[in-house]
Amino acid sequence: MQKCKFFMEYMRVTQGYGRYEGGNVDYTSYSHTGSWALDLGGRDMEKDWAYAPCDIQVKRIYGKYNAVWFETLENVLCADGQARKLVFMLLHIDDEDLKALGIAVGKVFRQGEKFYREGSAGAIGNHIHLEVGQAPFYPTGWQKTAVKDRTGAYVWKINKQLKPDEIFILGSDVIVMNDGGYHWMKEDNRDVTIDGLRSENTQLRERNTLLENSLKRIKDIADKL
Ligand SMILES: [Zn+2]
Repeated sequence: MQKCKFFMEYMRVTQGYGRYEGGNVDYTSYSHTGSWALDLGGRDMEKDWAYAPCDIQVKRIYGKYNAVWFETLENVLCADGQARKLVFMLLHIDDEDLKALGIAVGKVFRQGEKFYREGSAGAIGNHIHLEVGQAPFYPTGWQKTAVKDRTGAYVWKINKQLKPDEIFILGSDVIVMNDGGYHWMKEDNRDVTIDGLRSENTQLRERNTLLENSLKRIKDIADKL
């Protein structure tokens, strides 16, 4: 099974999740009120590429922000240890890059292929706005919420939204400039944990075999008494 890998070479969170506690306006957030959305700024002010986190297929393109919805082809292993199919929604790629990547409904990108890029379509400054949801993708991929953000606009959210920090696993080659204050799973840690559990499992199996053999011998002796 593929891991759901963080998809940029540099992690620099420029806007994190928006708090929402009853009131309509969250002054700690600019445009993410009540949403587990992230803005990713890449290495600098330029436009970094994004590389497919796993095998994905384009489900929808919405012109206003060049929003693109991608659905995973299969279950993927997420940072929280769960395997699930996901939908990703990314915003702000520029027109020429959308065209250059050949993004069209039905197109498949394999893990590691360039699939999106930072841009400023419908936004100020180059970045990628990211949201993650539980698959399957259905009708339009998102919905208008009853929450207004600081700009006075209603917040739209991907359906069945999930927190990116519980989904993406950071490869050891990712350079973290700003983690947004979230606890990200590093691929190395996970590998070490899995290796540790494997060797523990082997030891337990060996001990179990020894105990079963002893039990058999005891039974044999008991039968003879
Ligand atoms: Zn955003």
